[in-house]
Amino acid sequence: MDFSQVKKIQDSRGFDIFSRNQICLERGEGCKLFDTEGRQYIDFMGGIAVNCLGYGNAKLAEAIESQCRKLMHCSNLFYEEQQARLLKILTEGTGFARAFLCNSGAEANEAAIKLARKYYHEKGQAKYKFVTALNSFHGRTLTTATATGQEKYSKPYAPLTPGFSHVPFNDIEALEKALTADVCAVILETIQGEGGVIPAAEDYLKAARKLTEERDILLIIDEVQTGVMRCGKLFSFELYGIMPDIATLAKGLGGGFPIGAMLAVEKVAKAFKKGDHGSTFGGNPLACAAANAVLEQVNSAEFGREVERKGDFLKELLNGLSKYPFVGKPRGAGLLVGLPLSLEIDGKKVAEKMLGEGFIINCAGSNTLRFAPPLIISEGEISEMAAALDKVLSQFSKTE
Ligand SMILES: *Cc1c(COP(=O)(O)O)cnc(C)c1O
Repeated sequence: MDFSQVKKIQDSRGFDIFSRNQICLERGEGCKLFDTEGRQYIDFMGGIAVNCLGYGNAKLAEAIESQCRKLMHCSNLFYEEQQARLLKILTEGTGFARAFLCNSGAEANEAAIKLARKYYHEKGQAKYKFVTALNSFHGRTLTTATATGQEKYSKPYAPLTPGFSHVPFNDIEALEKALTADVCAVILETIQGEGGVIPAAEDYLKAARKLTEERDILLIIDEVQTGVMRCGKLFSFELYGIMPDIATLAKGLGGGFPIGAMLAVEKVAKAFKKGDHGSTFGGNPLACAAANAVLEQVNSAEFGREVERKGDFLKELLNGLSKYPFVGKPRGAGLLVGLPLSLEIDGKKVAEKMLGEGFIINCAGSNTLRFAPPLIISEGEISEMAAALDKVLSQFSKTE
């Protein structure tokens, strides 16, 4: 099929829910993607913070290949070594006692929400409400869309799951007011990724942890975008010096293979008993083999420092672009970085022009350029991208 045939089918026969770039991708190598017309792109989106090892990673490909010949799937009614290995990595030295494996971020958050309710149900307490942040993103299932603090994701699907309220992010007083006796958990991101790469203030997360502890409320940190070394640590909450009761992972965990995880401390994890929750595909040997191959390569302090160093370099170069009056200060942690633009400049158009220059970035939240490249991106590639962005932005300052 050529591009026009692919486009015609995807546009007319898939649900019309994605705004796609007018490019048909064929393959990738390292941090480069190649389209069917033979053009190449350096990828600063990483499949939306997913392809942490870039494309064609040999160890990841070998792990998937050998596991799929051996045993692709078996039910959770049996024991299996790849799952055991992954559970060990996710719980050893992390503070979490147990992990539930699933297939996506939304599923991981669903599991977290169910576990929090079950925990207080077991204790015989009438606590079932959740407080989450405005501008947050937690997934697309009905309940995680309800948890998401952006009405566009939930409003048309009413009636929504009862028991959710939203408070302004980074406003500790608003959070405190919302923490009534019937609240079972607060769900927060450390950096609102889809919301436009907006970091939680350190005081805010620390105070949120303290308040929830004092009031016997669970703290759930959604690490779906920020986790798996994206911010230089396995969990970005480590940067804040806090420990939640539950955390969720997905995106980067399988390096492109779909897998998610919900992790909990022992006292909370115990609330799920046999038959309480489950998943047919969750934790299957192939997905676990992929995640193990990813974690073997990224889960070290040394790799984390490298991510932080490259993130700082990216921010430093982006900082130089604030010479344009419509460009704000870069923000974020590790290799999850946002560059806010003022509203007179259309960030989507900037991303489009960058594509023309051979760089993939996207626009998140209210007009913020988001950079979430593979964690193996090089300083050379970062410099090239920043130079191209400088060129693109200079055209905007002339024409708009
Ligand atoms: C992407 C994302 C999700 C949803 O993950 P899916 O795999 O798309 O279900 C949930 N939370 C956060 C913070 C995310 O960035």
